[in-house]
Amino acid sequence: MGPDCLFCRIVAGEIPATIVRETDTTLAFRDISPKAPVHVLVIPKEHYADIATLGQGDPALAGELLAAAAVVAEDEGLLGDGYRLMFNTGAYGGQEVFHVHAHVLGGAPLGPMIC
Ligand code: IMP
Repeated sequence: MGPDCLFCRIVAGEIPATIVRETDTTLAFRDISPKAPVHVLVIPKEHYADIATLGQGDPALAGELLAAAAVVAEDEGLLGDGYRLMFNTGAYGGQEVFHVHAHVLGGAPLGPMIC
């Protein structure tokens, strides 16, 4: 854990979040600035900077993250109409918080990907 990592601090309970799902290894909470009617972030509790680092460093945990995101999508009622699962990665990818997180976005038509 990095003491300056915002999402590590949410995992530690030092910063409040609206948690929608928790497992031994993952945490899902509502985005503080939602970009869609449903916008949940799903993170591993263990700190990895981005999805590339996680996928190479601990593929099993990356799989648990994807499974947790799928359950969140189901719990949020997104399976029927569909949703977007997104990992911003690095500066050019628009990543702002460097603790890997999946964005689960849905609840309305999202349109094409914006670059
Ligand atoms: P990124 O651009 O992929 O790194 O996304 C970071 C996301 O974290 C953005 O959608 C922010 O709105 C969200 N965010 C930032 N701070 C908080 C917080 O304290 N709680 C919940 N979400 C946050």
